Amino acid sequence: MGLLYYASLLKKAGHTVRVIDSEMNGSSLRKISRTIKEFGPQVVCSSINVFSPASEFSALKKLKDAFKFTLICRGHFPRIYPEETIQNSHVDFALTGKGLFSIPLLVNAIEQKKDTGNIPGIIYKQGRQIIRTAEEPLVDLNALPFPARELIDNRIYTTALTTADRFTTVIGSLGCPYQCTYCQEKNTPYQTRDVNNIVAEIVECKRKFGINELFFLDPIFTVDRARTMDFCAKLNKSGVRMKWVMRTRADLVDEEMLSLLAGSGCVKIHYGIESGNQRILDGLNRQITLGKVKETVKLTAKKHIAVFGYFMIGNTGETVESIQDTIAFARSLPLNFAQFMKVAPIHYTDVHKRSLDKFKSDIWLEHYKGIPGSADKWKPQDTGLSTKELNAWIRRAYRGFYLRPGYLWRMLTFRYTPFYIIRQLKIAALLLRLRIAGR
Ligand code: SF4
Repeated sequence: MGLLYYASLLKKAGHTVRVIDSEMNGSSLRKISRTIKEFGPQVVCSSINVFSPASEFSALKKLKDAFKFTLICRGHFPRIYPEETIQNSHVDFALTGKGLFSIPLLVNAIEQKKDTGNIPGIIYKQGRQIIRTAEEPLVDLNALPFPARELIDNRIYTTALTTADRFTTVIGSLGCPYQCTYCQEKNTPYQTRDVNNIVAEIVECKRKFGINELFFLDPIFTVDRARTMDFCAKLNKSGVRMKWVMRTRADLVDEEMLSLLAGSGCVKIHYGIESGNQRILDGLNRQITLGKVKETVKLTAKKHIAVFGYFMIGNTGETVESIQDTIAFARSLPLNFAQFMKVAPIHYTDVHKRSLDKFKSDIWLEHYKGIPGSADKWKPQDTGLSTKELNAWIRRAYRGFYLRPGYLWRMLTFRYTPFYIIRQLKIAALLLRLRIAGR
């Protein structure tokens, strides 16, 4: 979605843009090279994630050596490790912020061969010197053009739980005002888009791109109750029938809101539940009770909205007993889907801080530099359970949740189950057709 925003900003600034989503298209380096050769870009802007930065830099080096473009890197890795990013000899610029403000200014300056020193949110080399400019300011989200969906094949985007043909994601807000210890969203200032602006994008999705379902990427969609109610009313008033999905906290919805959500097309809500043990939840600064979670999940199911619960295994102070509480709690709720994830030392979280304290080094940087590390270095360091034990409990949680006659019956009789199956079959057939056609 970030690249689609960049594309629309650059188009607005008068540039000709192409978007290559190599992950979705399963593009090989050879296929990407062909596209670059055909298009002949002066500038390439590529996302670099924190999981496999070394291989991404290496692929970009091969492309740059062959086609001699100016290379801009953006994304999680450059934002967290700007110096390490720019030290790659083939990287010309890296974006140290989200880039929504900087990218048109930077590409204009490159095209016009102007000085880049006054463009905020970038890092680059000048001779032997590395120049890092001021922090990028926040942009007004309402002033952004809508993502350039015309540059991608909207038919191929989906999730395992999408019910309709075609699907997209939308950003209605950034960041989160809560302060859960394990989450990095609190590091992003909370910013919202105007409801009218979001509805206008949804109308465009429907009318211009034939999209029938969307997922809001907002960490917490219903932070502001009045705004949520207004959104539902305005979406209904627009006359556009759209299925939509969002993530939120169980204490930020109520029965009246759930009725309005369901009436405006909300087909699934993802709740961060995290643990079935109150001591663990309090330790994570979740500021919610298990009783509230149970009440909300039941109300959501009553409104025939699918309910997805996120759980974490390996929380601060986690014990075998607290994991058992989590599995039992998940089984006690009328959830349609549950995900059990091992807590990870992601950046800007207490889990990462404790990892830094314990090892006196950053495991992500070690991973980038190819320094081997044991699996136990990647586990949360504030539980006595080993990686092997945590993984075994995750498998047990999945079995305990999904392999139950009651669960199977619930899903067999659930209104959206046929849609999930039909959508998966259709997308598989489409991908096969595209592969046969060599696209
Ligand atoms: S876990 Fe959810 S509520 Fe907590 S800070 Fe992150 S996004 Fe916000």
